[in-house]
Amino acid sequence: MIGKERIHCRKDYSIRDKEGDYVLYWMQAAQRVHYNHALDYACMRSRELQKPLVVYFGLTPDFPGANLRHYVFMLEGLEEGARSLEKKGIYFSLCLQSPPAGAIELADKAALLVMDSGYLDIQYRWRSEVTAAVSCPVVEVETNIIVPVETAAEKEQYSAAPLRRRIHKKLLPFTGYTAGDLEYEGKHYKPSEPFPHEISVKDIPDVLKNLEVDRSVFPSPFFRGGYENARNLLDRFLGSGVYHYDQLKNDPTKKMTSGLSPYLHFGQISPLEVYHEVQQVNAHYTGGFLEELVVRRELACNFTHYNADYYNLRCLPSWCLKTLEEHSTDKRPYHYSPEEFEEGTTHDPYWNAAQWEMRISGKMAGYMRMYWGKKVIEWTRTPDEAYEILSFLNDKYELDGRDPNGYAGIAWCFGKHDRPWQERPIFGKIRYMNQKGLKRKFPNIDEYVSEIEDWKKKYLS
Ligand SMILES: Cc1cc2nc3c(=O)[nH]c(=O)nc-3n(C[C@H](O)[C@H](O)[C@H](O)COP(=O)(O)OP(=O)(O)OC[C@H]3O[C@@H](n4cnc5c(N)ncnc54)[C@H](O)[C@@H]3O)c2cc1C
Repeated sequence: MIGKERIHCRKDYSIRDKEGDYVLYWMQAAQRVHYNHALDYACMRSRELQKPLVVYFGLTPDFPGANLRHYVFMLEGLEEGARSLEKKGIYFSLCLQSPPAGAIELADKAALLVMDSGYLDIQYRWRSEVTAAVSCPVVEVETNIIVPVETAAEKEQYSAAPLRRRIHKKLLPFTGYTAGDLEYEGKHYKPSEPFPHEISVKDIPDVLKNLEVDRSVFPSPFFRGGYENARNLLDRFLGSGVYHYDQLKNDPTKKMTSGLSPYLHFGQISPLEVYHEVQQVNAHYTGGFLEELVVRRELACNFTHYNADYYNLRCLPSWCLKTLEEHSTDKRPYHYSPEEFEEGTTHDPYWNAAQWEMRISGKMAGYMRMYWGKKVIEWTRTPDEAYEILSFLNDKYELDGRDPNGYAGIAWCFGKHDRPWQERPIFGKIRYMNQKGLKRKFPNIDEYVSEIEDWKKKYLS
């Protein structure tokens, strides 16, 4: 059972349920075949309605904040997904056009439109636009989350603790389903002529040639997109990292985390699949990891779902705004321009290393992200300026950027989901981090700096 709370009817079935040439799945946030509840639901309905299934993906060159690094990673995943769908006999259509415009066009001949869920403004806007415009029934299925966002909580949660309690109470029914590999029994759809703006995803360089995207950020030399690569990382993590996670996850020199965030961001692997696999390991080792994967990740979805200001300072609780305001005229020890931050040329070798780790690989170590964010608050004139710089850099360089986790992570640096700490200059009651603490926690932190220096020689020359 997919679970009825994952399934939301957005336009009534009675409108047109027996007409149409196919069932259309508009793939958007869940870019995978395996463990995809929305795809499974579309398959099921196509069988019921005796219509073939068509999967559509709209490729727009100007998705906010996306650049070559993100497009290459995403296309690698889509190319693999297209092959898997083809093997199942399901028609996959990649169209070079605005995703909602393409969905509206193809829905014209659909008996039913199925969409998956993402929790950012643009994704809500696109889904509403499509739902309002089409005349077939529309169903949305939440598959990139373990407990559907409104089932987990009916309003914004102010910290992890209340959401943790709710999620743990409700988790079980949502983990029973081992989605994926649903057999498609319908006919293979063959349009009499290609859909408008349809292109082949087989030759990625060729797709990129026709895509006028921002090319200022090179693809990651470390992360290749797609389910298989995600699965390899997961298997590696299950073989070793998971047993050391609680002790070593923070140490940027140890690389003991799963590395899955880019794949989770693009929906190339399902959090439920990761959950199921990790559940096979002795529970003694897995509590810390599942807290991040389930509670922290779903707290971020709760945040962007319920807080319309998730990308600016106004998302913060009043105590944070008040304390930042009270310290807004405190003297800053350093001030850097957005360019100096972007070029990683501050006085702090650890901060610079973190910035270059992100610029080169597309993924900064988790603990360094906190240090990185806190220091930008300390070295800018105003919290607004700091917020803007952090969001810009995070979205531009992180492969997992432009994600609820990114917006929640940045907001956390300003006190969101945290508690007041002892008052100090600039930060007020917001938690503070310093270089001394970093060195104390990781006496070998200079190895991290050396490694990133080696990367700079190797990848920037
Ligand atoms: C300033 C700042 C910016 C951040 N930007 C992003 C971002 O753009 N995208 C992003 O996915 N995460 C972001 N995070 C959260 C976290 O640092 C990353 O999710 C984590 O480092 C990803 O590495 P991993 O997949 O190896 O994590 P693992 O430790 O292996 O965790 C597994 C998964 O759990 C989730 N997770 C882990 N830590 C957190 C967390 N603190 N909050 C929410 N979910 C978490 C992620 O989905 C992650 O992939 C940010 C944190 C901060 C403080």
